[in-house]
Amino acid sequence: MSVRALVIGAGIAGLATALAIARYDNVVICAPPDGWREGSTYRAQGGIAAAWGEDDDWHRHLEDTLLVTRGLADPGAVRILAEEARQAVAPLVEAGIFEMADSFHPDLGREAGHSRSRILHAKGGLTGRVVSRYLYQQALSHPRIRFVEGFAEKLIVDSREICRGSWIRTPSSRIIGILAPATVLATGGYAALWQRTSNHPASVGNGLLLAYEAGAELSDLEFVQFHPTILAQDVPRGGALLLTEALRGFGAHLVNAAGERFMQDYPGQELAGRDEVARAVYQQGTAYLTLRHLNRDRVYDHFGQLADLLSQRHFDLAQDLLPVAPGAHFSMGGVCTGYFGETRVQSLYAAGEAANTGVHGANRLASNSLLEALVFSARIARHITENLKRPDSFVLPDPPMLSRKAAQTEILRRLGDIMDRHFGVIRHPHLMVQGLERLKSLQTADNHRILQLCLLIGQSALRREESRGAHCRSDFPESETDWAGHLIHLESRGIEFREVSGVLKPR
Ligand SMILES: Cc1cc2nc3c(=O)[nH]c(=O)nc-3n(C[C@H](O)[C@H](O)[C@H](O)COP(=O)(O)OP(=O)(O)OC[C@H]3O[C@@H](n4cnc5c(N)ncnc54)[C@H](O)[C@@H]3O)c2cc1C
Repeated sequence: MSVRALVIGAGIAGLATALAIARYDNVVICAPPDGWREGSTYRAQGGIAAAWGEDDDWHRHLEDTLLVTRGLADPGAVRILAEEARQAVAPLVEAGIFEMADSFHPDLGREAGHSRSRILHAKGGLTGRVVSRYLYQQALSHPRIRFVEGFAEKLIVDSREICRGSWIRTPSSRIIGILAPATVLATGGYAALWQRTSNHPASVGNGLLLAYEAGAELSDLEFVQFHPTILAQDVPRGGALLLTEALRGFGAHLVNAAGERFMQDYPGQELAGRDEVARAVYQQGTAYLTLRHLNRDRVYDHFGQLADLLSQRHFDLAQDLLPVAPGAHFSMGGVCTGYFGETRVQSLYAAGEAANTGVHGANRLASNSLLEALVFSARIARHITENLKRPDSFVLPDPPMLSRKAAQTEILRRLGDIMDRHFGVIRHPHLMVQGLERLKSLQTADNHRILQLCLLIGQSALRREESRGAHCRSDFPESETDWAGHLIHLESRGIEFREVSGVLKPR
């Protein structure tokens, strides 16, 4: 069959983009065999933001997002996000994905930074699971979508710097080339580069490096959101359980070892900005989330699935003090894209957490990321369908020599330790310098890629001499107007600073 697009990744961004393109044309999705469960989408608990309530409108959603993103979001992109939210979410509402207040109105939850209740969520609190399963089943049964099991190892870029597709490693370790007029990277974020993380271990940003090597720009890599309430348990990497912000929206309190609420003096209290809460929890050393003061039955009814997950770990959601600590959760940085997901490389698009569309700035507003994937996947599909001409013929070259995937568990653990210690919630200059040295000392042929991304993140963190949003430096505690801009990495030019000019467009 002739194929219009190759979509790499099967989280919300990949599946939604493929389904949107498949309305008009044939699509191939490439992802590991269990890919739809592998990334962040499957783990998402809170929900999807959209100004749906009668007391709400998209202007408020826009304003709330601009406030939290600390001057680095692109207002044009945020406007698109807020204005197109209802339209993007409507098919999921119609499919019966969300808990409803009555036959016509979704039950809207409240999360930090949102001035209104506007979070659509699935019953039981595991929204991501329900959404991924639904989109995956839709894609599986779609006559114009074909799945290829494999892992994208390298993009195919021709001599005119046009992306032609990707080299894929199949489960039997064969390297196959898939050509397509458009390639969409929907490979997720990079928060699993940190040891304490809410992410699946595979979320190490490998798609960002594919784009970087192909000539795309990476931006805002230093901005990684630390979630304040990850269950503090000694578990293998990737096994940490996140205690959703919706619990605090529901009335849960944060207390210290003495049982005192330490967020009481902050504006918004437990629902202050995620960066503020993460720093406060970090500075307490020992902190707990508690719902003991709330009605037990209502807690179990609202967060039933989360209560089950906790009980498997010997905690009772409604009765116990739940030990929490911050952990890397969401990557604001990514492949620099325009308003239609287009990158600097012709015919290469990026979607979801792998992309930096400009909507998250220095700090993501809760529940805006699943929404971002839905809104921009529809735009990518439109752009591909309306603009992309079928390219002239192209002969697939011989496959490149790709080193066999080395067992990465040990190197990832070492990198995770370095990222936690040297580029964590509060960043100290001497520790960052040391961290970069430690990273360089680990360099070998096998781990080149993943280490390279850690180095780029570290360089950005050290270079940005201010605190803003999720990036907090002990030596520069304030935001500086001179730093209102983006640090951009381009392989051929190195790192450069681009002032905020409204639009974070790839050049
Ligand atoms: C615990 C948790 C809770 C969250 N809760 C919320 C929430 O309530 N609301 C919200 O808006 N956001 C939430 N987020 C963030 C949100 O879930 C993510 O931003 C979003 O799901 C990202 O979707 P994605 O499709 O871009 O990437 P992912 O869902 O991470 O999917 C990436 C896909 O790419 C595949 N892949 C990766 N590399 C390759 C490769 N080289 N070749 C082939 N395939 C590849 C993976 O297998 C996977 O299928 C949460 C995140 C976490 C971790």
